[in-house]
Amino acid sequence: MTDLKGLKAVVTGGASGIGLATARLLAERGADAAVLDLRPEPLPEPLCGHRADVADDASVRAAVEAAAEDLGGIDVLINNAGIGAVGTVEDNDDDEWRRLWEVNVLGIVRVSRAALPHLRRAAAVHPGGAAIVNTCSIAATAGLPQRAAYSASKGAVLSLTLAMAADHVAEGIRVNCVTPGTVDTPWVGRLLDRAADPEAERAALNARQPTGRLVTAGEVAAAIAYLASPAAGAVTGTALAVDGGMHGL
Ligand code: NAD
Repeated sequence: MTDLKGLKAVVTGGASGIGLATARLLAERGADAAVLDLRPEPLPEPLCGHRADVADDASVRAAVEAAAEDLGGIDVLINNAGIGAVGTVEDNDDDEWRRLWEVNVLGIVRVSRAALPHLRRAAAVHPGGAAIVNTCSIAATAGLPQRAAYSASKGAVLSLTLAMAADHVAEGIRVNCVTPGTVDTPWVGRLLDRAADPEAERAALNARQPTGRLVTAGEVAAAIAYLASPAAGAVTGTALAVDGGMHGL
């Protein structure tokens, strides 16, 4: 287990699911973690939270500055906040497509823009010690049915990760992403609750996984923590799949 003592980390969408598991794991390993979320309370100790809507630039700037002040800087940014949409290109109207772009893609752009001056200061002290990890999805490349807008937004997250890695490598800031498969979080719980028989639907979902079970939020958090850690000091511009073997199937 990597010691992250002294690392100052900001996690967007950190009040639930993958983001909460990541913030908790970083804190368990010694990091100081701040959560930015639409609904940041209640959070388990010792996490601190700031309200932010990643679709709103003013709210992002205020929350990033407040988190930097709380933590005494920012070494690591986890861009994890995201929303989904079910449907084909005929099912989702332009407003739904714009909403996914605003949150899933421009959300990363806004938070990164606000955090980069802090990451640059951190990198000046510890080159390669500053990092951004984006939560992408296998939807970026797997060609999933009924996920047109979501897949397109995550495809953009993958391209953005590679472009940002190239832009900031010389500054000592690493940029990577994780591509989770189907992860057992409240997000998936909400989708299952809409089914006529949620338990049967969960069993069917498990059966579709090569491992016979969903990925856990803790397993994705462990991959994010690795990419954020000094152990990944030579890793930038990569996508780490945490998908139980689902990728490309
Ligand atoms: P979740 O719904 O449990 O948590 C998402 C969090 O993001 C919530 O706390 C929510 O309040 C926050 N959030 C949403 N919109 C926001 C906004 N505009 N500003 C700030 N915070 C906002 O979902 P999760 O399953 O943990 O998903 C987290 C990330 O993982 C998302 O980017 C999602 O696309 C990605 N992902 C999830 C799965 C999965 O199967 N659960 C698979 C692949 C990728």
